[in-house]
Amino acid sequence: MRFETMAIHTGDRPDAATGAVSVPIYQTSTFVFEDVDKTRGWDYSRSANPTRKVLEDTIARLEGGKAGFAFATGMAAETTVMHLLKRGDHVISGDDVYGGTYRLFQDVMTAFGLEFTFLRMNDGKRIEEAIRPNTRMLWLETPSNPLLNIIDLEMVVDIARRHKLLTVVDNTFATPYFLRPIEYGIDLVVHSTTKYLNGHCDVVGGAVVTTTDELTQRLQFLLNAMGTCASPFDCWLVLRGIETLPVRMRQHQENALAVAEYLDRHPAVKKVLYPGLESHPGHAIAKKQMKGFGGVVSFELTGGIRGVNTFLRRLRVFSLAESLGGITSLVEHPATMSHASMPQDCRESTGITSQLIRLSVGLENVDDLTDDLEQALNRP
Ligand SMILES: *Cc1c(COP(=O)(O)O)cnc(C)c1O
Repeated sequence: MRFETMAIHTGDRPDAATGAVSVPIYQTSTFVFEDVDKTRGWDYSRSANPTRKVLEDTIARLEGGKAGFAFATGMAAETTVMHLLKRGDHVISGDDVYGGTYRLFQDVMTAFGLEFTFLRMNDGKRIEEAIRPNTRMLWLETPSNPLLNIIDLEMVVDIARRHKLLTVVDNTFATPYFLRPIEYGIDLVVHSTTKYLNGHCDVVGGAVVTTTDELTQRLQFLLNAMGTCASPFDCWLVLRGIETLPVRMRQHQENALAVAEYLDRHPAVKKVLYPGLESHPGHAIAKKQMKGFGGVVSFELTGGIRGVNTFLRRLRVFSLAESLGGITSLVEHPATMSHASMPQDCRESTGITSQLIRLSVGLENVDDLTDDLEQALNRP
């Protein structure tokens, strides 16, 4: 089966118990035992739930992995993955990861004895130099949030295999429609399903896809032990979103490219970060590694912070809000919003300046999007 078909047909659909064409929302905490010591395959919804299972099977298949797990949020998925490690382990993470990921690592997990090094993951030599005897994991995003840096996964996997490190890719931005990290040898894929997989700005959720039986068993144990799983209704919403993922991603990308090209020509714009532009430093790798470039465009304005604020206030079609990946276009200011949890010096050395603006280009008519940018940039 091809991607579009798998997105609609994977898992127990139509529902075997009733024939329902839409996956039923099994809104139940517990399941009756057939006999003492004998279940019908389900016992308690924290351990497993039939609606959640369809979502987990679908995400696993779309990513080409072994098994999937659905979590209450992207951060719940990440927190659970970090519990694969133990006190004294060292993690090398991209320095331009999602602000909440940085906060989880730096401000939460260090208290449990994990150690972190943050660096730009596009330089293999620097990764090798950062590896210590206790290094266990490499964690990265490609394209990264909000700078849209592209990391060469073949290079990262080559280093990881030589040093026996677990590799994790946060595939929220690309989605499996544009990038399948497991095909490059990545061990674990994580998602904030809040973003493109759900795609409608009406749920928060997360997912993890594994590649080995050992990782699968461990993740199932941790999800159940930690209770970080997603609710049946949220799973149903994400499932409904995934059914249209391919058509949405094609349109997100078409609109994003047009917006990026428009901004690139505008004199008030200092630089545009979009991997689909030939001027982007990661364009060649992105073209080789991905089937498309996604729907997020970041850019810097030439003026100071006052110009940024004026621009943000003038936009009408783009709403000023955190998050991304939904049908509706959003704009945000990473330095004061999504990445405010990163210390200022860290933000600045990474390249998240106060002039940086991130757009999540939605599915509106693209001319209305460029008209909106035009009136916000050009009004005196
Ligand atoms: C939003 C986001 C997360 C966190 O997900 P939540 O669902 O908000 O908890 C993690 N990684 C990336 C890349 C994100 O954009």
